[in-house]
Amino acid sequence: MTTQVETTVRSPEAYTLAHRAVDAMQAAAVWPTPLNFELWLHYLGDPDGTLGQEISRLLATGAPFTDSTAEMLAAEFLPRGRLSEEIRDAGAMLNRELAAVAGAIDKARESQANYGHTLADAVDRMASAGDADSLGDIVSSLADATRRIRRHTAALERRLESSNREVTRLRDHMEQVRRDAMTDALTNLANRKAFDEHLLRLCDEAESMGGSIGLAIIDIDHFKRFNDTWGHQTGDQVLRYVASVLGRVSRAPRIAARYGGEEFALIFPGETAGAIEAALNAIREEIASRALRRRSTNDDLGAVTISVGFGLRRPGETASQLLTRADEALYASKRSGRNKVTAAAQAVSDAA
Ligand code: C2E
Repeated sequence: MTTQVETTVRSPEAYTLAHRAVDAMQAAAVWPTPLNFELWLHYLGDPDGTLGQEISRLLATGAPFTDSTAEMLAAEFLPRGRLSEEIRDAGAMLNRELAAVAGAIDKARESQANYGHTLADAVDRMASAGDADSLGDIVSSLADATRRIRRHTAALERRLESSNREVTRLRDHMEQVRRDAMTDALTNLANRKAFDEHLLRLCDEAESMGGSIGLAIIDIDHFKRFNDTWGHQTGDQVLRYVASVLGRVSRAPRIAARYGGEEFALIFPGETAGAIEAALNAIREEIASRALRRRSTNDDLGAVTISVGFGLRRPGETASQLLTRADEALYASKRSGRNKVTAAAQAVSDAA
């Protein structure tokens, strides 16, 4: 998808596509921020791609397209391009370092060889030296050669030390890039991409080695109404508030993630249905227990409630089947009045 759009934006249709992107953003009441513009170029350039479908779906819900929605979409659908640029840069820096180190090692090898020749030469000259003066000359040329080799060795050490620092810096930077690519910028929880990877891996492990995997999908009740009443900035703070509670209760091996706009997911490896249900109810109560205030006006925002659906993975069940069951349980919570935790049907016959 990215390559296709990148080709189009350097082709004769580029300006048409750019105009269409601006028109479409205006029609959908989306601000023409640089990030939205990038998303819309991809959307219009490939409307049936995964990003195109997701944007169509979000627009169809009528929910406002906020900066955090844009960031989530970018994190999920545009990271490869960004990540690969960082990786290319780091690769180029590493190549430069390696070339400099290889050059320094070559020089050191050359000066070692010269030193070896000087020593061999000195041995020959000593054997035939007739007087103290010529011995003195030999010793002084040996001392010169030794000083030279010490200088070269010290230079090589300095070069290796600076390379070591640079490689450590690059490694830390790449680690940060990797973490950013897996983190939701607004809430600091794992993002959807990281969540998908964790869930797939854990389901595979449970299938091959046994062990239980619990999955909960959490949705903030009436979030759209909240956003419409108080504005997106306050809406974003509500997302951060819910995320902060989820983050606190999700010590490893639990994993908390922002799953979609106002949806979150929690993975519970190795816990029983009873323990998961109790933890989710505690989270639900804690979230609802606080009366939030709007920072700009100090208005009372009231309590935020969440609806939750969860399920335990059945033997042989794929990650997406488990997600579907947890989602169905979430909708059961919504249908039965919200601010609830509902367990998915567990036995296969229950689900039929
Ligand atoms: P934040 O605004 O970045 O605040 C981070 C943390 O700083 C909060 O974590 C809390 O421990 C502390 N903090 C910030 N402002 C206050 C304050 O006025 N009084 C007290 N006692 N502590 C404060 P916490 O509580 O987990 O909240 C996480 C995020 O949830 C906050 O990030 C904010 O975005 C949102 N949030 C929480 N409560 C409210 C609220 O009443 N109103 C609004 N608008 N947002 C809230």
